[in-house]
Amino acid sequence: MGKIRVLDESLVSLISAGEVIENPASIVKELIENSLDANATNIDIRIEKGGIDSITVSDNGEGILKEDCPVVTIRHSTSKIASRDDIERIMTYGFRGEALASIAAVADLEVTTRHKDEEIGSCIKSRAGQIPDITDATRPQGTTVDVRNLFSTIPARRKHLAEPRVESQRVLAAIMKHAIVRNDVGFRFLRDEKTVFDCPSNQTPQERIRALLGPDVADNLIEVNYSNRIVIKGFVTNPIISRGNRGREFFSIRKRPISDPSLERVVETAYSSLLMRGRYPIFVLDIELEPEKVDPNVHPTKKEVRVQDFDLIRETLGFVITNVLLDIKPAVRSESLEYLVESEMVEQEETSIFPDADSARAEGRALLLEETMLVEPVPSNVAELDIKEIGRILNILGQVSMVYIVIATENGLVIVDQHAAHERILYEKLKKQVSEGNAMVQELLEPIVLRLGVSEAERVLGLGETLEKLGYSIASFGGNEILISTLPEILGKRASENEMLALVDRILELGEGLAMNEFMDDLVRLTACHAAIRSGQKIGHEEARRLIAELFATEGKYHCAHGRPTIIRISKEELDKRFGRTGPDAIARFRARHRL
Ligand code: ADP
Ligand code: MG
Repeated sequence: MGKIRVLDESLVSLISAGEVIENPASIVKELIENSLDANATNIDIRIEKGGIDSITVSDNGEGILKEDCPVVTIRHSTSKIASRDDIERIMTYGFRGEALASIAAVADLEVTTRHKDEEIGSCIKSRAGQIPDITDATRPQGTTVDVRNLFSTIPARRKHLAEPRVESQRVLAAIMKHAIVRNDVGFRFLRDEKTVFDCPSNQTPQERIRALLGPDVADNLIEVNYSNRIVIKGFVTNPIISRGNRGREFFSIRKRPISDPSLERVVETAYSSLLMRGRYPIFVLDIELEPEKVDPNVHPTKKEVRVQDFDLIRETLGFVITNVLLDIKPAVRSESLEYLVESEMVEQEETSIFPDADSARAEGRALLLEETMLVEPVPSNVAELDIKEIGRILNILGQVSMVYIVIATENGLVIVDQHAAHERILYEKLKKQVSEGNAMVQELLEPIVLRLGVSEAERVLGLGETLEKLGYSIASFGGNEILISTLPEILGKRASENEMLALVDRILELGEGLAMNEFMDDLVRLTACHAAIRSGQKIGHEEARRLIAELFATEGKYHCAHGRPTIIRISKEELDKRFGRTGPDAIARFRARHRL
């Protein structure tokens, strides 16, 4: 007997389903595209457990005709194409008629729909791989597709799915790709019943970007509007903001999201002199060209669009973006840029504790005074200082150079380094939590994805268990990307990609050969350091007061977690001495004046 057999139809559909349906994100993508093809103006997406348990996509589109219902889950059934000519001019997102059939092959599927021209709707119910059951249903115009128990009948595939938080991040990325360019359509996304975003229909492109990418991006947009044989429209951003991965590079061709490495590289090259190594630009660009030139169904999952004249597109894109960036103020260059990026709360103007600071500075007095204080700290006296002294007369004079808090006490001056002090407070707090095994955790609404070097990603993941004890949840996001979904609570405010990249870099620098407890202590130190108020951050009186009170409640109040002093004191005696009121100089002067 020969070895070759013809596969039966259900097996064939399973295999080909695998090409379209990799994970919940690929289902969501197909369903969104169907809704857009049906001219929906609002699309509502809900997932449970990363979409592994359930995915529901509802729209207010045209709906499906009753007579069409029996065939929607059959392979190669589509309403979007009738003739060869149509293939050439296709304007819809998909026309191979494969998505619903593929989903039905690997999951339980329920489609509830009512066509705009019909009174009675339909409900198509299909259990993984079985013939669907169709009944009447009531529903406003539109379609709801409900997908449950993904891969429940194919354990091998189910095992391949990542943890829910990783899958849900992929779903979010898939939705973003569409939502960012289709600002005309309302998109709502709920994850485990929590709203991740809710964008109304008919937003301006800028409003949509603000809603999805945040104010930092929205405030730094540079419009691109080029129209010739090829039309390129959208936004790039001022290089003062950037990302550590390609997650904010959005390309579309006629509003159909695509990811094409060669196009990405063109824009990255245009930015290359403006960004640090390892940083990626943020942009949302749509390219338009005649529909004949786009063949969207070449790649089985339609990630890549094959386009004629691709070289021309690349050239034009490079030219357009380079020109747009030339207009940016030349003063803005990488060094100062990085500075801005690193310390997010930079405030340029300095505050001074002295009421007549400006005139004093003009005469060089303030400068002298600051130098004197810095050069001559009196750390040996510090041990005498206690909360009673500081508590009784906590006369905070102000903040110098946005880093030192200056306090007048009964007997001189006390100067606190705000960063060092806060680091000490947080270090002791986190250390206690970790040793008691209950680190406070902050869940991130939108997890952070970082692109690292290959071996780096592996090393960080290898530290996963240790990091978990501090409150970091880190998972692989595929390739050399990692996904951070929770952070130690004390770091919550600093949950930005830049911060996390810097932190991960430093975590990897920690001695690998260290004993476990030492390593843990280093991690706690590092976390505290990153979470602490930075120098350069303005703080108010009340905040300063609280900081000092908390500092005095710590055990090692005189030093930060790294051993630098948190407080220095300049006693009245020291001041007297320096002003020549006491000491040998004063006696000599007294003598001279009185000719003794
Ligand atoms: P394709 O999108 O390639 O045509 P699908 O399997 O995704 O194939 O969908 C099959 C058909 O089901 C579509 O051609 C369309 O007629 C109908 N359909 C699917 N989803 C929707 C929807 N949300 N609204 C209206 N019709 C839909
Ligand atoms: Mg489709």
